[in-house]
Amino acid sequence: MSAKLLDGKLLAQQLKDELKEKVELLKTKSGKVPTIKNILIGQDDGSCAYANSQKKAAQYVGIQYELVTLKEDIPQEELVEFIQNLNGDPDVNGIMLHKPVPKHIDYRAAANGISVEKDLEGVNVTNIGKMIIGDTKIIPCTPASVMAHIHSTGVPIRGKEAVIVGHSEIVGKPLSLLLLQEYATLSVCHIATSEAGKLEEHVKRADILVVAVGKPNLIKGDWVKSGATVIDVGINRVNGRIVGDVEFDKAEQRAGYITPVPGGVGPVTVVMLMKNCIETFQYQNSI
Ligand code: NAD
Repeated sequence: MSAKLLDGKLLAQQLKDELKEKVELLKTKSGKVPTIKNILIGQDDGSCAYANSQKKAAQYVGIQYELVTLKEDIPQEELVEFIQNLNGDPDVNGIMLHKPVPKHIDYRAAANGISVEKDLEGVNVTNIGKMIIGDTKIIPCTPASVMAHIHSTGVPIRGKEAVIVGHSEIVGKPLSLLLLQEYATLSVCHIATSEAGKLEEHVKRADILVVAVGKPNLIKGDWVKSGATVIDVGINRVNGRIVGDVEFDKAEQRAGYITPVPGGVGPVTVVMLMKNCIETFQYQNSI
């Protein structure tokens, strides 16, 4: 058996077409254009590439997008003040602060400074907290992309064994809440699971397996349960090629559905920022 490929570029295109229609409607209703301000501190190649993809997606769906580059040594207070000004600007509907930030910047404090109503990545603690009570209007973009891929299979989540490998604040933890919200039976694995020699036994149980670690071939293909849905979030550069965390060729032989890397989770993550901007725009304009 060979798995069906979950084509992220195709899914992203479908979502962008839907969002484009919605944006046109919202512009007609409100007479305004949804606008994103994206903050980058200093220069980071990864962030610049991500910002470029966001700009293209925004242009496609009809959202105005501006990347603001702040100086590398900007003091925390100046950054906070800059964010506060954007919070108060009625022409700005969504704000995003790129990670990584320079060492002297307290990211958590800065993220909490982004207004709850303009927080495009769902990184303000209030928006993180809202996920616990099932208010999932604004959710972090990568977990949202993972959920969109799982939903695209049409396979029900309820009652399924879901295993997440990786428990970071931006992927594993928020994703665990989203999967619980849909009644998956959940295990979250991390470095200590591997240290205890238990990663394989957890992975083998997974009907839905999501891996977000950043270690190529961490998940062996023959650990994948037959027919499982495998979502590989990992991005690793190996010999000039981008690969995920799952041993793709072998896993593909066993899985029911699998995301490629690149071209799986990434392209849909970018679109989720646009989706969140539409949410914040609608909220701010009561439409
Ligand atoms: P992180 O470094 O914050 O967290 C890594 C997680 O992996 C931790 O929970 C850690 O305990 C766990 N881990 C580390 N070694 C392990 C091991 N040997 N066995 C089991 N667990 C182990 O990483 P992150 O920011 O969540 O990113 C994870 C990966 O996902 C990276 O490759 C990153 O580039 C990628 N990523 C992709 C997207 C996208 O949209 N495609 C978005 C965000 C992150």
